[in-house]
Amino acid sequence: MLVKTGIIILLLTGFFNVYMAQAAQSQDKVFEEFKETFWKQYWQLNPGYAASLGLTDYAGKLMLPTVSNMKKETKSYQQLLKKLHKFKSDKLSVSNQTDYSLLENTLSSSIWYINTFKAYQWDPSSYNLAGIFDLLLTNEDISKEKRAQLAYNMLESVPDYFAAARKNIERPTREHTELAAAQIKANITMFEKTLPNFMEQAPNGALTDAERNIYGSRLKAATEAVKKYSKWLEDKLKNKKTEWRSFRIGKELYDRKFYFDIQSGYTAEQIFLKAVEEKTILHQKMAKITTQLWKKYFPDILQPEDDKKAIKMMIDRLSLNHVDRNGFIEAIRQQLPTLVQFIKDKSIVYLDPKKPLEVRETPEYMRGVAGASISSPGVFEKSRPTYYNVTPLTDYTAEQAESYLREYNHYMLQILNIHEAIPGHYVQLVYSNQSPSLVKSIFGNGAMVEGWACYTERMMLEEGYGAEQQPELWLMYYKWNLRIVCNTILDYSTHVLDMTEQQAINLLTQDAFQQATEAQEKWQRVQLTQVQLCSYYTGLTEIYDWREEQKQKLGKQFNLRNFHEQFLSYGSSPVPEIKKMMLAEQEKKNKK
Ligand code: ZN
Ligand code: ZN
Repeated sequence: MLVKTGIIILLLTGFFNVYMAQAAQSQDKVFEEFKETFWKQYWQLNPGYAASLGLTDYAGKLMLPTVSNMKKETKSYQQLLKKLHKFKSDKLSVSNQTDYSLLENTLSSSIWYINTFKAYQWDPSSYNLAGIFDLLLTNEDISKEKRAQLAYNMLESVPDYFAAARKNIERPTREHTELAAAQIKANITMFEKTLPNFMEQAPNGALTDAERNIYGSRLKAATEAVKKYSKWLEDKLKNKKTEWRSFRIGKELYDRKFYFDIQSGYTAEQIFLKAVEEKTILHQKMAKITTQLWKKYFPDILQPEDDKKAIKMMIDRLSLNHVDRNGFIEAIRQQLPTLVQFIKDKSIVYLDPKKPLEVRETPEYMRGVAGASISSPGVFEKSRPTYYNVTPLTDYTAEQAESYLREYNHYMLQILNIHEAIPGHYVQLVYSNQSPSLVKSIFGNGAMVEGWACYTERMMLEEGYGAEQQPELWLMYYKWNLRIVCNTILDYSTHVLDMTEQQAINLLTQDAFQQATEAQEKWQRVQLTQVQLCSYYTGLTEIYDWREEQKQKLGKQFNLRNFHEQFLSYGSSPVPEIKKMMLAEQEKKNKK
C-alpha cells in the first residue's frame, strides 16, 4: 500500500512538473500574443510614429491631439494594463520579464502624462510635425512611392492638428512658447519647400494625377495652418496680458516624472543629495591630482591657494594636448584596436568579432550638433553594421576648431571612445540585440543605457587603462564626470528648489569648470526639459553601487567579466529590474 502511494505521489509530482513546465511555456506563448495586441493598438494610436518607422500597415491620417482622442487613448492603455497584470511576471522567460516591466512602465506613464502632467496644455512646442515628416521622408527602407503616399495621407489632417493645438493650450510657459515659435519655422519650411520638392522628385506612378492635385491643395492648407499657429504664438508672446505658467514643474510632478522616466531604485531627492556629496568629493580628488602634477606642468609658477583656480589652470594646460583638426577622425579610428586589446588582456567583457564597428563621417542629414554618436541598425532593419559617426571639423573656423579640439583633447578623446564605443554604447547595443524584442528597442531604459556608458569610463581607468598617462587621464575623467553630477544638481535645483539663473551659471562655470557658452546652453535646456539631465548620473551610480554590493557579497567568487556579461544579458532594462533578475539567477544556482 505504502509503496503504491509512493508511486502515485511520484507520478503526481512528475506529472505536476511537466504540467508546470508547460504552464510556464504557455504563459510565454500567451504573453507573445499579448504583445501583438499591444503593438496593434499602440500603432493605431500613434500612426504618425508608425509611418516614420516604415510600418505602413498602420500609417494613415495623423492622430489629432483632441481631448476626446486622449480620453480614448488612456482608456486603451488602462485596458492593456489590466490585461498585462493578469500575467505573473516571475513565470515568464527572463526576456519577457523585461518586456513586462517595460510595458508596465510605458502604459502607466502614458496614462500619467495625459491625465496629470498635461504638457499638451502648457507646452506649445509639443505640437511639431516637422520631425515626424522628416523621419518619414528620410527613411530609406520605404520605397519613394510609399513615402509619397504616406505623406499624402498624413497631410490631410494637418489643419485640424494645429486647430486642436490652439484649443488645448491654456496657460503655456513663456519658455516653451518661445521654443515653439522658433521651431515652427522648420514646419513652415517642411510644408513650403521640403514636401513639394519631395513630390516633384517622386516617381510618376507614386500618386495619380487627381491625387497630385489634391496633394497640392493639402500642402497649401497645411502651410496656412502652420502660419496661423505661428502668428498665434507670436501674438501670445507680444501680448503683455498673457498669463504664463512657470517652467519649473515643482516637487510633486518632478518626483513622479523621475519615477517613470528613470525607473530607478532611488528617489529624485536621494540622487540629488548623492550628487551634492559627490561634487565635493570630486573637487577634493581633482585638487590632489593638480598638486601632484603642478611642478611637471608649471615649474615656474606658484600654485594658487584657491583650489578651484589651480584645478582650472591645470585642466586648461592639459587641454592643449590635442590632435590636429584634420586628424580627428583618424585618431578615433586608430584608438579602437587599443581599447579592444586592453579589454581582452584584462578579461573585461566578451567582444563579438562578428559584430564590427565602422567609424565613418557623420552623414550630412544627421549633422547639426557636432560630435560623435553611435547608430545601430534601426528597429526594422537588421542587416546593416553599427556605425560610429564622427563629425569632421571642416565647417569650423580656426577658432571654433581649436576650442572643440581642446574640449576633446588627447585624454578626453579616449574617454569619449570608451563611452560611445568600446566597451560603452556599442558593446551594450550588441548585447542588447542578442535578445531582440521590439519592446526593448522602442522602450529601452535611458538611464541604464547612459549609466552603462558612464560606468565603463570609470571602470576602465580603475582596471588600469592608460596607466602611462595617469593621473592626467583621471583629472580629465573627473572633469567629465563633474558635468553629469552637476547636470543632476542643476536639474533638481531648478525644478524643485527654485534655483536662479545666476546660481545655475555659477554652478556650471565655477564648480564644473565649464565655458560660459556651454553653461548658458545648459540653462536654456534645463528650462525646457525635466529629469532627463539626471539619467546619466543616476544610471552610473546605480550600476556602480550594484557592482560594489556584488563584490562584497561574493567575495573571492566575484568575477568582473561575469558580472558585466550577466548585467548586459537582459537588454536595456531598468537597473533595479536587472538587479532583481541577477539575484534570482544566483539563487537558482545556489540551490543546484
Ligand atoms: Zn591647440
Ligand atoms: Zn551616451
